Amino acid sequence: MENSGSKLDKIISLAKRRGFIYQGSEIYGGLAGTWDYGPLGVELKNNIKNLWWSRFVRNRGDIFGLDAAILMNQGVWEASGHTDGFSDPLAECGKCKKRYKIDELKEKKCPECGGELGEEKQFNMMFKTNVGAVENKNSISYLRPETAQGIFVNFKNIIDSFHPQLPFGIAQIGKAFRNEIAPRDFIFRTREFEQMEIEYFVYEKKWKKSFEEWVKEMREWINEIGLNKKNVHEHEVPKEELAHYSKRTIDFEYDYPFGRSELYGLAYRTDFDLKNHTANSNVPLEYYDQEKNEKIVPHVIEPSLGVDRTILALLCDSYTEEDVNGEVRALFKFKKEIAPIKIAVLPLSKKSELQKISKKIFENLKNKWICMYDETQSIGKRYRRQDEIGTPYCVTIDFESVNDKKVTVRERDSMKQDRIPISDLKEYFNQKL
Ligand code: ATP
Repeated sequence: MENSGSKLDKIISLAKRRGFIYQGSEIYGGLAGTWDYGPLGVELKNNIKNLWWSRFVRNRGDIFGLDAAILMNQGVWEASGHTDGFSDPLAECGKCKKRYKIDELKEKKCPECGGELGEEKQFNMMFKTNVGAVENKNSISYLRPETAQGIFVNFKNIIDSFHPQLPFGIAQIGKAFRNEIAPRDFIFRTREFEQMEIEYFVYEKKWKKSFEEWVKEMREWINEIGLNKKNVHEHEVPKEELAHYSKRTIDFEYDYPFGRSELYGLAYRTDFDLKNHTANSNVPLEYYDQEKNEKIVPHVIEPSLGVDRTILALLCDSYTEEDVNGEVRALFKFKKEIAPIKIAVLPLSKKSELQKISKKIFENLKNKWICMYDETQSIGKRYRRQDEIGTPYCVTIDFESVNDKKVTVRERDSMKQDRIPISDLKEYFNQKL
């Protein structure tokens, strides 16, 4: 592989060309920090979200799902500390007026024009809007900068509807918005992104044990989606750098082509949020401990995962270039569960006798797996196209298939080919996928 910069460029260009990710509002010159997911990107994203939901909600029983509104009462953000504290230090260049995030600059000069930077100011990263027809201070609302607060404000609802025992969690997948000063590196830092978050409520005295369990859960998740362990690092955030609500945080970092940066966060949020919402809303957010016959405020462990950073890490981790007979074969070596398309159905020619069999096979397989039908250009080119988007299996129907009722199944990584009776195909893929 050549230098790392060109690796990211190749991934960005492949992602666009093959319909994974496009620049947001591209025909209008784009909108900084926004990206649109195309047909393959949506499938990839859904696979990740579905795996996460199955693992942490469906398969557990102690974690409840939620889908809260993005717009919330402004009181939520006062209690969470976001109205006052969710800001980045920013400085403006006196010459070209461009603004920079101070902590990302090497020297106190404008990186573009070399001009002097002005005084440091705090810049709140929440997108402000007004709800309803009248614009005044009471109509102000924000696009949520994290999904977590939607969970805290529903704590009492979940308790009242389901009467869970501690420890239990509430999970949510959804969009979050941050007016980042410097969106960068493709989908790494964007202004609109998706999070998968769990607030896991525990007895205060059990937080350390629970934190350790969640470290393991995060490691297992990273393994499940197929990221190479070598490229993931756990960084214990030093006390002086902890967020205002946290007593312990581990950042899970990934070696992106542009350097090591945050992938996920795991934080011990104490009882900060429940206590503040109780004080600000006047609604007690408590748990009744039956054994001790007392009301307590649970403490919280929060595994917070970015969907888009997961996708970026997976694209970088699985992008491979191989030399095959002097030609470059580019492929995404996605795990089968992650691959957007599982099977491609490829008739060797457009002749009607092959089309008939091929369409039937396609109809039969697509009931169960996401399949693609492709009959244009040479078979070699079509294999390369499927490799490029990470499709684990190709089924090729040739003239022999008309007689022997068998097809060739080619596996992406090994390029090994098997001859399989058409009648056995479903069973074959049941085993493989
Ligand atoms: P960073 O330090 O990179 O800004 P953060 O520490 O502010 O991230 P958190 O507030 O902990 O991030 O958010 C939880 C997760 O949400 C992050 O680990 C990341 O996966 C994702 N995330 C946060 N900000 C962005 C963003 N601007 N674009 C894409 N994903 C993001």
